[in-house]
Amino acid sequence: MSFSNLGLLPELLRAVEEKGYAAPTPIQAGTIPAILAGRDVLAGAQTGTGKTAAFVLPILQHLTRDGGNAPRALVLTPTRELAAQVADNATGYGRFLKLRTVVVFGGVGINPQIDQLRRGCDLLIATPGRLLDLAEQGVLDLTHVRYFVLDEADRMLDMGFIPAIRRVLKLLPPERQNMMFSATYSDDIRALAQRFLHNPVSVEVASRNATADRVTQSLYRVPKDSKRHLLAHLIQEGNWQQVLVFTRTKHGANRLTQQLADAGIAAAAIHGNKSQSARVRALADFKSLRITALVATEVAARGLDIKELPHVVNYELPNVPEDYVHRIGRTARAGSTGSAVSLVSADEEPLLRDIERLLRSSIPATPVPQFPILNTPVRPDRPAERDSRRDGSTAKFRASNGGRGSRRSGGAQQGSARGSGRGERQAEGHAAQRSHAPHRSEPRSSQSAPGHSRAAEHSRDRRAGGQPRSARPTQEPERAGGSWRRA
Ligand code: AMP
Repeated sequence: MSFSNLGLLPELLRAVEEKGYAAPTPIQAGTIPAILAGRDVLAGAQTGTGKTAAFVLPILQHLTRDGGNAPRALVLTPTRELAAQVADNATGYGRFLKLRTVVVFGGVGINPQIDQLRRGCDLLIATPGRLLDLAEQGVLDLTHVRYFVLDEADRMLDMGFIPAIRRVLKLLPPERQNMMFSATYSDDIRALAQRFLHNPVSVEVASRNATADRVTQSLYRVPKDSKRHLLAHLIQEGNWQQVLVFTRTKHGANRLTQQLADAGIAAAAIHGNKSQSARVRALADFKSLRITALVATEVAARGLDIKELPHVVNYELPNVPEDYVHRIGRTARAGSTGSAVSLVSADEEPLLRDIERLLRSSIPATPVPQFPILNTPVRPDRPAERDSRRDGSTAKFRASNGGRGSRRSGGAQQGSARGSGRGERQAEGHAAQRSHAPHRSEPRSSQSAPGHSRAAEHSRDRRAGGQPRSARPTQEPERAGGSWRRA
């Protein structure tokens, strides 16, 4: 199958060729002819499958047919990052056509977006909150929309966007072609599809809720308080150049970013508390390999498209098993391979079971290697980035320790960091006192390497106070509320 068999205009074929795409991906081969034929489409495809081109290319082709100043195609995305990415792609694919693509999302000034819309727009890409703001202000006319795409519909649902989507649908004319893309299917997704798709062509590129074929998945069973040391070890020993690390909370993302920086690994955090400019910069630094690790929460990382991202780490397992599929979909994107590593502490075993049930397979456990415990200085819980850039997107190397972090033995760490979070803080307190001495790198030694067992962790838990840890994490995960809901 080649792109020229799909019925696309020469201008689009040229753009695709210049992008270096040799052949359409399965989702593109399945949806492009259907969309060109005017059919509604329900597509089961996660990011990384080439789904953006699958709807953007045929929509651009439709848009060449007639003109006007108000948008005739609308793509709704759950996050600003995804909106920006879809817009980038659309601009690239449409570079030989005279079409105007505008992207609108919250977190940035509305006036430049209003100006752009006034200058004319053919394809509009938007997050729901800002779209509704603009429509309510009377500066956006959606009555000419003929092509409507709901991208990452399952994310939309998770993020509580259904009422907003309903309101958007009311602003659109009834006569239109609808497309819905979703990585996972649930009854809610099916109900949503039934509500606004008419006799859709169903295209599914991977089996339902399947993970990307080319992702090598593995897990390490490791105590919570050793995770950061193991992660630093994996990055440094594996000479990883680019790794996306998922944490469950914004606070956790900040803290880990700082800990990685203390270990000599350039890292930045990306989450919903960051300003848009900080997020854009962190992503740009990550894409250009200026930083090694991007530490992200679920919400912030949705839809991120980073070319050939080789490593994804689940520093904490997600509460919702479907999120695991989304997370590991960040790697092994169209045509490349990747690895997804999960660091699983004893309290996360129930989450792991849920994920494996969804995958209908188990994730292979890798023996925990010998790894050093880094002696990182204690610092108050605060966003890591304040140390470096003004609005804080990047935690840089610490000059004082030569960028490698000083090390102390696993034995010492185990002795003081038993079990609970309180234990961990105490351990860091000891480290802080020691850190008054100048940092220096100590040679790694085999005795400094705790390949902890789950049994050991459980026994530490008991010693730490006799209370079993709760099966579920206690810290509140980042939710799609506040400004996110407003997009
Ligand atoms: P998406 O699933 O739309 O986020 O796309 C993931 C990545 O695949 C993007 O970086 C695209 O540029 C790339 N891509 C899309 N279509 C193709 C193709 N036919 N061949 C190679 N790469 C592609």
